[in-house]
Amino acid sequence: MDSQRTLRRQVSCAGIGLHSGNKVTLSLKPAPANSGIRFRRSDLSGLEIPATVGNLAGIHYATHLSRNEGSVETVEHLLAALVGLGVDNAIVELNYPEVPIMDGSAAPFVYLIQEAGLRSLPVPRRFMRVLRPVELSRGDKRIALYPSEQFKVSYSISFEHPLLRHQARTVSVNEDSFVEQIAPARTFGFLKEVEMLRQQGLALGGSLENAVVIGETGVLNNPLRFEDEFVRHKILDAIGDLALVGHPVVGHLVAHRAGHALHTAFAAKLLEERDAWELVEQQVPLPFGVPAGAPVGSAIAGR
Ligand SMILES: [Zn+2]
Repeated sequence: MDSQRTLRRQVSCAGIGLHSGNKVTLSLKPAPANSGIRFRRSDLSGLEIPATVGNLAGIHYATHLSRNEGSVETVEHLLAALVGLGVDNAIVELNYPEVPIMDGSAAPFVYLIQEAGLRSLPVPRRFMRVLRPVELSRGDKRIALYPSEQFKVSYSISFEHPLLRHQARTVSVNEDSFVEQIAPARTFGFLKEVEMLRQQGLALGGSLENAVVIGETGVLNNPLRFEDEFVRHKILDAIGDLALVGHPVVGHLVAHRAGHALHTAFAAKLLEERDAWELVEQQVPLPFGVPAGAPVGSAIAGR
Protein backbone atom coordinates (compact mmCIF):
# COMPACT_ATOMS: atom_id res chain seq x y z
CA MET A 1 0.00 0.00 0.00
CA ASP A 2 1.14 3.53 -0.75
CA SER A 3 0.33 5.47 2.37
CA GLN A 4 -0.74 9.08 2.44
CA ARG A 5 1.91 11.40 3.77
CA THR A 6 2.14 14.63 5.68
CA LEU A 7 4.96 16.67 7.18
CA ARG A 8 6.76 15.43 10.26
CA ARG A 9 6.84 18.86 11.89
CA GLN A 10 6.07 22.50 11.28
CA VAL A 11 8.53 24.64 9.29
CA SER A 12 8.47 28.33 8.36
CA CYS A 13 10.11 30.78 6.02
CA ALA A 14 9.66 34.39 4.96
CA GLY A 15 9.86 36.03 1.57
CA ILE A 16 8.18 38.65 -0.57
CA GLY A 17 5.08 38.42 -2.73
CA LEU A 18 5.90 38.73 -6.42
CA HIS A 19 2.98 40.98 -7.24
CA SER A 20 2.53 42.97 -4.03
CA GLY A 21 6.20 43.24 -3.03
CA ASN A 22 5.05 42.71 0.59
CA LYS A 23 6.85 40.54 3.12
CA VAL A 24 5.01 37.26 3.80
CA THR A 25 5.56 34.61 6.45
CA LEU A 26 4.71 31.08 5.38
CA SER A 27 4.44 28.03 7.66
CA LEU A 28 3.92 24.45 6.52
CA LYS A 29 2.17 22.26 9.10
CA PRO A 30 1.24 18.59 9.37
CA ALA A 31 -2.40 17.70 8.59
CA PRO A 32 -4.53 14.54 8.98
CA ALA A 33 -5.22 11.99 6.23
CA ASN A 34 -7.77 12.93 3.54
CA SER A 35 -7.56 16.64 4.40
CA GLY A 36 -5.48 17.54 1.34
CA ILE A 37 -3.47 20.72 0.96
CA ARG A 38 -5.19 23.67 2.61
CA PHE A 39 -4.12 27.30 2.70
CA ARG A 40 -4.85 29.07 5.97
CA ARG A 41 -4.90 32.86 6.34
CA SER A 42 -3.62 33.66 9.84
CA ASP A 43 -4.53 37.33 9.21
CA LEU A 44 -8.19 36.36 8.56
CA SER A 45 -8.87 34.40 11.77
CA GLY A 46 -7.52 31.22 10.23
CA LEU A 47 -9.86 31.14 7.21
CA GLU A 48 -9.04 28.01 5.20
CA ILE A 49 -8.89 27.76 1.41
CA PRO A 50 -8.46 24.15 0.23
CA ALA A 51 -6.23 23.79 -2.84
CA THR A 52 -8.98 22.46 -5.11
CA VAL A 53 -10.36 23.25 -8.53
CA GLY A 54 -13.58 24.41 -6.83
CA ASN A 55 -11.71 27.33 -5.25
CA LEU A 56 -10.06 28.60 -8.44
CA ALA A 57 -10.56 32.33 -8.60
CA GLY A 58 -8.90 33.37 -11.81
CA ILE A 59 -5.55 33.62 -13.37
CA HIS A 60 -3.44 36.72 -13.62
CA TYR A 61 0.05 35.55 -14.52
CA ALA A 62 -0.26 33.16 -11.56
CA THR A 63 -2.81 30.75 -10.11
CA HIS A 64 -5.20 32.32 -7.64
CA LEU A 65 -7.58 30.60 -5.18
CA SER A 66 -10.37 32.09 -3.11
CA ARG A 67 -13.07 31.05 -0.71
CA ASN A 68 -15.57 33.33 1.03
CA GLU A 69 -13.75 36.62 1.59
CA GLY A 70 -10.25 35.12 1.58
CA SER A 71 -7.86 34.52 -1.25
CA VAL A 72 -4.34 33.36 -1.94
CA GLU A 73 -2.26 34.04 -5.03
CA THR A 74 0.73 32.44 -6.74
CA VAL A 75 0.12 28.99 -5.27
CA GLU A 76 1.58 26.93 -8.12
CA HIS A 77 5.26 26.57 -7.22
CA LEU A 78 4.53 25.59 -3.63
CA LEU A 79 1.83 23.12 -4.73
CA ALA A 80 4.28 21.60 -7.21
CA ALA A 81 6.88 21.15 -4.44
CA LEU A 82 4.33 19.49 -2.14
CA VAL A 83 3.01 17.03 -4.72
CA GLY A 84 6.47 16.57 -6.26
CA LEU A 85 7.74 15.32 -2.89
CA GLY A 86 4.64 13.22 -2.26
CA VAL A 87 2.97 15.33 0.43
CA ASP A 88 -0.77 14.57 0.34
CA ASN A 89 -1.87 16.53 3.38
CA ALA A 90 -0.59 19.82 4.77
CA ILE A 91 -1.67 23.19 6.09
CA VAL A 92 0.00 26.17 4.41
CA GLU A 93 -0.37 29.12 6.77
CA LEU A 94 0.16 32.64 5.39
CA ASN A 95 -0.24 36.08 6.93
CA TYR A 96 -0.86 37.69 3.53
CA PRO A 97 -2.83 36.69 0.40
CA GLU A 98 0.24 35.77 -1.65
CA VAL A 99 2.69 32.86 -1.43
CA PRO A 100 6.24 34.30 -1.31
CA ILE A 101 8.05 34.03 -4.64
CA MET A 102 11.41 33.08 -3.06
CA ASP A 103 13.87 32.65 -5.97
CA GLY A 104 11.12 32.10 -8.55
CA SER A 105 11.52 28.30 -8.48
CA ALA A 106 10.24 25.49 -6.26
CA ALA A 107 13.70 24.68 -4.86
CA PRO A 108 13.36 26.77 -1.63
CA PHE A 109 10.04 25.01 -0.90
CA VAL A 110 11.71 21.63 -1.54
CA TYR A 111 14.41 22.50 1.06
CA LEU A 112 11.72 23.58 3.49
CA ILE A 113 9.72 20.34 3.07
CA GLN A 114 12.90 18.26 3.36
CA GLU A 115 13.73 20.19 6.54
CA ALA A 116 10.30 19.27 7.96
CA GLY A 117 10.64 15.61 6.95
CA LEU A 118 7.72 13.40 5.96
CA ARG A 119 5.50 11.10 7.97
CA SER A 120 3.31 8.25 6.66
CA LEU A 121 -0.34 8.17 7.69
CA PRO A 122 -2.17 4.84 8.10
CA VAL A 123 -4.52 5.54 5.21
CA PRO A 124 -3.94 4.53 1.58
CA ARG A 125 -3.19 7.11 -1.02
CA ARG A 126 -5.73 7.32 -3.85
CA PHE A 127 -4.28 7.89 -7.29
CA MET A 128 -6.25 9.26 -10.20
CA ARG A 129 -5.50 6.78 -12.97
CA VAL A 130 -6.30 8.02 -16.45
CA LEU A 131 -8.35 5.55 -18.54
CA ARG A 132 -8.81 7.44 -21.80
CA PRO A 133 -7.44 10.63 -23.38
CA VAL A 134 -8.75 14.00 -22.21
CA GLU A 135 -7.84 17.02 -24.32
CA LEU A 136 -8.35 20.75 -24.27
CA SER A 137 -7.15 23.34 -26.76
CA ARG A 138 -7.53 27.07 -27.28
CA GLY A 139 -6.14 28.32 -30.56
CA ASP A 140 -2.68 26.81 -30.89
CA LYS A 141 -2.42 26.18 -27.13
CA ARG A 142 -3.08 22.61 -26.20
CA ILE A 143 -3.05 20.28 -23.20
CA ALA A 144 -3.99 16.62 -22.92
CA LEU A 145 -3.70 13.67 -20.58
CA TYR A 146 -3.26 10.10 -21.78
CA PRO A 147 -3.19 6.73 -20.01
CA SER A 148 0.31 5.80 -18.78
CA GLU A 149 1.73 3.54 -16.09
CA GLN A 150 3.34 6.52 -14.37
CA PHE A 151 3.05 10.29 -14.12
CA LYS A 152 4.93 11.87 -17.01
CA VAL A 153 4.90 15.39 -18.39
CA SER A 154 5.86 16.40 -21.94
CA TYR A 155 5.92 20.13 -22.58
CA SER A 156 6.83 22.28 -25.54
CA ILE A 157 6.98 26.06 -25.83
CA SER A 158 7.60 28.51 -28.61
CA PHE A 159 7.74 32.29 -28.40
CA GLU A 160 8.46 35.07 -30.86
CA HIS A 161 11.93 35.49 -29.46
CA PRO A 162 15.25 34.20 -30.84
CA LEU A 163 16.08 32.49 -27.53
CA LEU A 164 12.77 30.72 -27.20
CA ARG A 165 11.69 29.64 -30.66
CA HIS A 166 11.33 26.07 -29.46
CA GLN A 167 12.05 24.10 -26.29
CA ALA A 168 10.62 20.68 -25.44
CA ARG A 169 11.20 18.17 -22.66
CA THR A 170 9.63 15.01 -21.25
CA VAL A 171 10.06 14.06 -17.59
CA SER A 172 8.89 10.97 -15.74
CA VAL A 173 7.93 12.67 -12.52
CA ASN A 174 9.11 11.08 -9.30
CA GLU A 175 10.69 12.62 -6.22
CA ASP A 176 14.24 12.43 -7.56
CA SER A 177 13.50 13.77 -11.04
CA PHE A 178 11.33 16.52 -9.58
CA VAL A 179 14.00 17.68 -7.13
CA GLU A 180 16.90 17.49 -9.59
CA GLN A 181 15.39 18.44 -12.95
CA ILE A 182 12.29 20.51 -12.34
CA ALA A 183 12.19 22.22 -8.93
CA PRO A 184 15.22 24.52 -9.53
CA ALA A 185 13.82 25.99 -12.80
CA ARG A 186 12.85 29.62 -12.27
CA THR A 187 9.95 31.75 -13.44
CA PHE A 188 10.76 33.76 -16.52
CA GLY A 189 9.44 36.90 -18.11
CA PHE A 190 10.19 39.22 -20.97
CA LEU A 191 11.56 42.63 -20.04
CA LYS A 192 8.81 44.36 -22.06
CA GLU A 193 6.15 42.36 -20.22
CA VAL A 194 7.68 43.15 -16.83
CA GLU A 195 7.46 46.87 -17.60
CA MET A 196 3.81 46.48 -18.61
CA LEU A 197 3.00 44.52 -15.44
CA ARG A 198 4.62 47.20 -13.29
CA GLN A 199 2.42 49.85 -14.91
CA GLN A 200 -0.58 47.74 -13.83
CA GLY A 201 0.74 47.62 -10.26
CA LEU A 202 1.81 43.97 -10.64
CA ALA A 203 5.20 42.27 -10.28
CA LEU A 204 6.16 44.94 -7.73
CA GLY A 205 8.26 42.35 -5.89
CA GLY A 206 9.82 41.08 -9.11
CA SER A 207 13.57 41.41 -9.57
CA LEU A 208 16.52 39.62 -11.08
CA GLU A 209 16.64 37.72 -7.76
CA ASN A 210 13.39 35.89 -8.42
CA ALA A 211 12.85 35.61 -12.16
CA VAL A 212 14.84 35.02 -15.31
CA VAL A 213 14.35 38.21 -17.33
CA ILE A 214 14.69 38.02 -21.11
CA GLY A 215 15.68 41.18 -22.96
CA GLU A 216 15.77 41.82 -26.70
CA THR A 217 19.03 39.97 -27.24
CA GLY A 218 19.43 37.61 -24.33
CA VAL A 219 18.92 36.77 -20.67
CA LEU A 220 19.69 39.66 -18.31
CA ASN A 221 20.66 37.46 -15.39
CA ASN A 222 22.75 34.64 -16.75
CA PRO A 223 23.82 31.99 -16.05
CA LEU A 224 20.71 29.93 -16.50
CA ARG A 225 20.38 26.92 -14.19
CA PHE A 226 19.65 24.69 -17.19
CA GLU A 227 20.01 25.38 -20.89
CA ASP A 228 16.27 24.71 -21.22
CA GLU A 229 15.27 26.24 -17.88
CA PHE A 230 12.19 27.84 -19.50
CA VAL A 231 10.41 24.65 -20.54
CA ARG A 232 11.38 23.01 -17.24
CA HIS A 233 9.65 25.85 -15.44
CA LYS A 234 6.52 25.30 -17.53
CA ILE A 235 6.56 21.66 -16.41
CA LEU A 236 6.83 22.88 -12.81
CA ASP A 237 3.82 25.18 -13.30
CA ALA A 238 1.79 22.37 -14.90
CA ILE A 239 2.55 19.99 -11.99
CA GLY A 240 1.47 22.66 -9.49
CA ASP A 241 -1.73 23.52 -11.34
CA LEU A 242 -2.68 19.88 -11.86
CA ALA A 243 -2.35 19.37 -8.08
CA LEU A 244 -5.73 21.11 -7.82
CA VAL A 245 -7.44 17.84 -8.83
CA GLY A 246 -6.62 16.65 -5.31
CA HIS A 247 -5.00 13.30 -6.14
CA PRO A 248 -1.64 12.20 -7.54
CA VAL A 249 -2.25 11.60 -11.24
CA VAL A 250 -1.15 8.45 -13.08
CA GLY A 251 -1.08 9.51 -16.71
CA HIS A 252 0.96 11.31 -19.34
CA LEU A 253 0.33 15.05 -19.47
CA VAL A 254 1.24 16.60 -22.83
CA ALA A 255 1.13 20.39 -23.22
CA HIS A 256 2.07 22.79 -25.98
CA ARG A 257 2.26 26.56 -25.39
CA ALA A 258 -0.14 26.26 -22.45
CA GLY A 259 -0.15 28.41 -19.32
CA HIS A 260 -1.95 28.72 -15.98
CA ALA A 261 -5.32 29.51 -17.60
CA LEU A 262 -5.27 26.38 -19.74
CA HIS A 263 -3.68 24.17 -17.04
CA THR A 264 -6.38 25.04 -14.52
CA ALA A 265 -9.26 24.87 -17.02
CA PHE A 266 -7.93 21.44 -17.89
CA ALA A 267 -7.84 20.35 -14.23
CA ALA A 268 -11.52 21.36 -13.97
CA LYS A 269 -12.44 19.52 -17.18
CA LEU A 270 -10.63 16.40 -15.98
CA LEU A 271 -12.67 16.32 -12.76
CA GLU A 272 -15.89 16.71 -14.77
CA GLU A 273 -15.09 13.80 -17.10
CA ARG A 274 -15.70 11.09 -14.55
CA ASP A 275 -15.49 8.25 -17.06
CA ALA A 276 -11.94 9.28 -18.06
CA TRP A 277 -10.28 8.15 -14.82
CA GLU A 278 -10.68 6.02 -11.73
CA LEU A 279 -9.37 6.34 -8.20
CA VAL A 280 -7.08 3.45 -7.30
CA GLU A 281 -4.98 2.58 -4.28
CA GLN A 282 -1.91 1.54 -6.21
CA GLN A 283 -0.06 3.32 -8.92
CA VAL A 284 0.72 0.28 -11.06
CA PRO A 285 -2.13 -1.47 -12.90
CA LEU A 286 -3.41 -4.77 -11.51
CA PRO A 287 -1.43 -7.71 -12.90
CA PHE A 288 -3.23 -9.57 -15.67
CA GLY A 289 -5.77 -12.00 -14.30
CA VAL A 290 -6.35 -10.29 -10.96
CA PRO A 291 -10.03 -9.38 -10.73
CA ALA A 292 -10.66 -5.66 -10.19
CA GLY A 293 -12.40 -6.34 -6.90
CA ALA A 294 -9.50 -8.34 -5.42
CA PRO A 295 -8.17 -7.13 -2.08
CA VAL A 296 -5.58 -4.42 -2.64
CA GLY A 297 -2.85 -6.29 -0.78
CA SER A 298 -2.94 -9.23 -3.19
CA ALA A 299 -2.02 -7.08 -6.18
CA ILE A 300 1.02 -5.43 -4.70
CA ALA A 301 3.41 -8.36 -4.62
CA GLY A 302 6.37 -7.86 -6.90
CA ARG A 303 6.30 -4.05 -6.90
ZN1 LIG B 1 5.72 29.53 -12.51
